[in-house]
Amino acid sequence: MTTQPPNLTSEPLQITEPAPRRGRNDLRRNLIGLARDDLKATLAEAGLEPFRAQQIWHWIYWHGLTDFDRMSNIAKKTRDKLNELFVIERPQIVTEQRSTDGTRKWLLRFPDGNEAETVNIPEEDRGSVCVSSQVGCTLTCSFCHTGTQPLVRNLTPDEIVGQFMVARDSYNEWPTPTLETRMLSNIVMMGMGEPLYNFDNVVTALKIVMDDQGIALSRRRITLSTSGVVPMIAKVGEALDVNLAVSLHAVNDEVRDTLVPINRKWPIAELLNACAAYPGARNSRRITFEYAMLKGVNDSDADARELVRILKPIHAKVNLIPFNPWPGAPYECSSNNRIHRFAEIVNDGGLSAPVRTPRGRDIHAACGQLKSESVRQRGEKVLL
Ligand code: SAH
Ligand code: SF4
Repeated sequence: MTTQPPNLTSEPLQITEPAPRRGRNDLRRNLIGLARDDLKATLAEAGLEPFRAQQIWHWIYWHGLTDFDRMSNIAKKTRDKLNELFVIERPQIVTEQRSTDGTRKWLLRFPDGNEAETVNIPEEDRGSVCVSSQVGCTLTCSFCHTGTQPLVRNLTPDEIVGQFMVARDSYNEWPTPTLETRMLSNIVMMGMGEPLYNFDNVVTALKIVMDDQGIALSRRRITLSTSGVVPMIAKVGEALDVNLAVSLHAVNDEVRDTLVPINRKWPIAELLNACAAYPGARNSRRITFEYAMLKGVNDSDADARELVRILKPIHAKVNLIPFNPWPGAPYECSSNNRIHRFAEIVNDGGLSAPVRTPRGRDIHAACGQLKSESVRQRGEKVLL
């Protein structure tokens, strides 16, 4: 599969005059983001029979249609009614940027004017779309640029699913391609925000994405990353059973308290207990522990050995992420030698610990860099 899109440029590419949007007085409801039953109920209220929900679902999520008039098995009279009451609306694309390494980043605007970013990271055998769950973040992890921005609000299910649909539009992946041929094969909930502080909307959105008569991404191809909202971890297992990633970043509470302040509420021991009980951890699926390499903070040989020790009881793997710098960040990335020595110790301890190549740094699309640059460039004030 080819992973390099044509016309690579690291310049922001204004791909469209943002499409005209319906005005504020247009109260038609967006059908994207409604769970199957809610879609059925919403259409029933408009006098449509239940089988219409099934047809419309298929047009929206399998074929990617945004125009009721192209729904060929629906009569004109019914289409008129749909047009009168509803829309099928993606978030608006403000810019699309393409990195020299093939990464694409979209700055998306929602109807209330708030914005968030979505990234696609193409790899040899897959493309992982990194989806945001919130505008900003309430948490204040000290190495994360998103964490320096106040939370604006949770994203709604249509805004979460809509991010993936925008990516599919961009790669022309409609109707839903077979598993073997699709470029956009995975979703990682690793964009802006803490998905477990927006649990209900994230669950609704991911269930839509997993539906095999629509976008059809299996739960094995979805990874949800959390900074460690311990009481919600079991609930992710019950509601979604997707792959779990945990932002660990330190091996003792003293250091983790400063990096991931939610640790003061739910310290490492509690976090690891919740992980051990996660359904995936008991079978072949491993939990990924993300570990940003911060010079002189968490990157010693002793830290690596301690990491192996504390993760022993869990079916775990480690992702070592070279720290992605941002202006004013109080940390530096560990040296290459240090990162590789650290990885070696963890590997020797029996844990897989690949070092993640930073992707899309030239367009500020790498972990922990999202939104920040856009806010600065656009001189916007983030609303609270
Ligand atoms: N809020 C969730 C998911 C989004 S962050 C979470 O914290 O898990 C996605 C990943 O990028 C997390 O592991 C986060 O800790 C990491 N990250 C944040 N800032 C980073 C930076 N500057 N360099 C490298 N990784 C970073
Ligand atoms: Fe929020 Fe995750 Fe960034 Fe922490 S690392 S501030 S939880 S987005």
